[in-house]
Amino acid sequence: MLTEVVEISENELDGKALEELSRAGEIIRAGGLVAFPTETVYGLGGDALNPDSSRKIYAAKGRPSDNPLIVHVYRFEDVEEIVSEVPETARKLAKAFWPGPLTMIMNKNHKVPYETTGGLDTVAIRMPNNKIALKLIEKSGGYIAAPSANTSGRPSPTVAKYCVEDLSGKIEMIIDGGQVGIGLESTIVDLTSDVPMILRPGYITLDMLKEVLGEVTIDKTIIDSTSTQKPKAPGMKYRHYAPKGQLMIVQGKQEDVVSFINEETKKAMQEGKRVGVIGTDATRKLYNADVVKSVGDRADESTVAHELFKVLREFDDENIDVMFSESFDDSGIGQAIMNRLLKAAGHNVKVL
Ligand code: AMP
Ligand code: MG
Repeated sequence: MLTEVVEISENELDGKALEELSRAGEIIRAGGLVAFPTETVYGLGGDALNPDSSRKIYAAKGRPSDNPLIVHVYRFEDVEEIVSEVPETARKLAKAFWPGPLTMIMNKNHKVPYETTGGLDTVAIRMPNNKIALKLIEKSGGYIAAPSANTSGRPSPTVAKYCVEDLSGKIEMIIDGGQVGIGLESTIVDLTSDVPMILRPGYITLDMLKEVLGEVTIDKTIIDSTSTQKPKAPGMKYRHYAPKGQLMIVQGKQEDVVSFINEETKKAMQEGKRVGVIGTDATRKLYNADVVKSVGDRADESTVAHELFKVLREFDDENIDVMFSESFDDSGIGQAIMNRLLKAAGHNVKVL
């Protein structure tokens, strides 16, 4: 299959861009697949109410079919059409955070095929905060199932180039809208339990949810790396975000971390390996390795969220065999950053 790549700027949805989005919408209505930007990461979109489309999404990504897809809407009233009941908590959260990086789990009705929900009776729903995405959903009939637009297991794409790398030849169209704003996937909150529960940390933090709902919990299995219980979001149990090389996270005082990483780098380079280091703006100059990258400013962790997946992908581009990364605080957005970084490293952490 020939994959068409179309460039659209979010701030310039002029006549031509709208025409392209109508065409993309037609592709999705006809059962085809289109990758598109959202504010979190690029999504791989198909008609959420068409079981064949969902099957195609799993096939294109090589994703296990028990890992449910998030359904994207462009207006709140469309939620009512696909769930058995809209909980009050969903109305409150939508008012506070939609459009935005928050996915809510509710009980589905018969309109949502089990192919989309990985066999579950619940459905994950989100309204993205990106004008290209919102227009595309509208043109596609209102419901787009869209996991991240990467081959299953690889870091999620935050620029279109990596969608092309993973999906070219497998889907009809890729919309290139530039680098996304947030860079990490949405926070997922389950509203079907008595107390709302975070199943995947993201840009919307536990404290932000508590401010709106009062009591909110977090699925312990996703923050405790020693837990042997299965996470409640089926996708969280899979190895994820993994770069091709081996990644180790190093925790400790800054100067200890820098000297440990420099020593280990030297050893690995002597063994003939290509070594990469993930530092921050303040520390990047302190490292000696084949490739050293800053993932952002530690004082503003949203910059780290923005760059993390891109940096992991860039190490793949550079054929790096071994990587070392600094560690981040496990609070606020840091919780989402560490969740992704730990998975990328297969929980390989050195505590100094
Ligand atoms: P991705 O589309 O790559 O961002 O992954 C979607 C995530 O949402 C996966 O971790 C899924 O397991 C999770 N998810 C989607 N639908 C549900 C659901 N109904 N219940 C629990 N988790 C879900
Ligand atoms: Mg994903």
